[in-house]
Amino acid sequence: MTLDLDDIAAHLTDSPEQADALIDLSNVVRDTAIGGPHARSLDRLGLVLDALARRTGDRNATAYALADRSLRHQVHEYPDRTEPALLVAWIESGLVEELPDADERLLDLAEGLGLPVISRDGFADFRLTHPWIQGNTTQFLSPVPTPVRAVKLAERDMGIRSPAQISRKLEESDLKAHGLLAGRNRRPMTEVVRRHWRCPERSCTLYDSHRGSAVRLPRMKRGVPVCEVHRTPLLDDGPRTGIAQLKLLVEGDCVHRFTLDVDSTVILGRDPGSGGISLYDHIDPERLRRISRAHLSVQVSAQSLALRNLGGNGTRLRRSGARQSGPLTNEDRVALHVGDTVELAAGIHLARSARRFPAEIAAAWQSSTNRRQTPRSAAATTMLGERATDADSG
Ligand SMILES: [Zn+2]
Repeated sequence: MTLDLDDIAAHLTDSPEQADALIDLSNVVRDTAIGGPHARSLDRLGLVLDALARRTGDRNATAYALADRSLRHQVHEYPDRTEPALLVAWIESGLVEELPDADERLLDLAEGLGLPVISRDGFADFRLTHPWIQGNTTQFLSPVPTPVRAVKLAERDMGIRSPAQISRKLEESDLKAHGLLAGRNRRPMTEVVRRHWRCPERSCTLYDSHRGSAVRLPRMKRGVPVCEVHRTPLLDDGPRTGIAQLKLLVEGDCVHRFTLDVDSTVILGRDPGSGGISLYDHIDPERLRRISRAHLSVQVSAQSLALRNLGGNGTRLRRSGARQSGPLTNEDRVALHVGDTVELAAGIHLARSARRFPAEIAAAWQSSTNRRQTPRSAAATTMLGERATDADSG
């Protein structure tokens, strides 16, 4: 049921662009609500990764983990010495990104890539630099123990923190307050993610924009994107179109990821013709026979990913958490959300990577705000903490 320590590495990725979620590792490893009595335990990471696999419907789901530099210390707080040693090995191999304080980078990545954040932290001292956290009910997930000694991931209501609460928290941590001052002039990470970058060194191809989904995100140094190798500021190389990712699952295993550009419509099938996505190389011939030549149309816009059935073999959609699936029609487009699965044929499914588009996240907040319907909280959410003292959720 739970992942062994040895199996965890396979569920960590060294690229945030390939991840299904971001993990606030210092928070998870010290979360005594799950995974035994020790003050620190890597077992908790295994429980959380297991829960992520169940949440995404992909047993090979991966996460990008960030840790504070202090996490590797206090080795006596771990069940035994092998755990901090393993943590250091993951850091050295790039599977865990270690920073003096990981919160800022974690939130930058979450905002820029639309990835969910697994953490129980309230990030109170980041609400001014990251106002999108205020009132957020969709992008933060906390590990919750279940009766069978497992963990599930629950969406958190981040609430609205008042300016008074935020400044109190800032005073508590001088260092973070300093980061905030430096943050005034920084380039927002979202702006960096929406551009291509290139290193001024001619021979350097680290940020080559022709790599599609594998393009590396620049590291930020004092608000400026810099080359990791040459340490020089990167040059703006033009706008970058948004991307969405679809995962192809065969008997529950992810066998391929397709990267789709925003503002495109793509046909997927056994032999969809030029410009389409062929499943020929990824599925065995026996199963392939049950897939239509042109099986499914996938339309990616800035706000959504929408599907329409094309072939005679039929396509079924199962909504996240639903027991039953229903057929897609050949007429109407239906939005595919994170956690939904699409059945092309028995044992062959499509699912979305957990990352969402910035515009899609904004729309989700809008609708959850409207659903609350109490004028007080709606007004407070709009104010983003400017004068939201009335609706303080603590
Ligand atoms: Zn370079």
